[in-house]
Amino acid sequence: MADAKRVCRKCLLRDMPEKEYYRNMYTYIANLPEDDKVSDKEYERRLEECKKCEHLLGGMCRICGCFVKMRAAMAVRHCPGADKRW
Ligand code: SF4
Repeated sequence: MADAKRVCRKCLLRDMPEKEYYRNMYTYIANLPEDDKVSDKEYERRLEECKKCEHLLGGMCRICGCFVKMRAAMAVRHCPGADKRW
């Protein structure tokens, strides 16, 4: 247990080391119920659209403020842009 680290569930991003909050996001995505997630193929398609989009900045969508890697994983979420890329 010496390597186990406590995860603070109430910390703001600014209170966490950068690596830690990205790790939390990936854990969150991995633990989404399968029914709530898009397929791997659709996930990659969405991210490719984001990569081509002028609203992507630093991994975040400047329209909705979401990390696109998180938003794109959720089946109920859609691109908030006027042209609805996904
Ligand atoms: S507007 Fe849509 S395609 Fe562009 S970054 Fe935001 S979610 Fe991605």
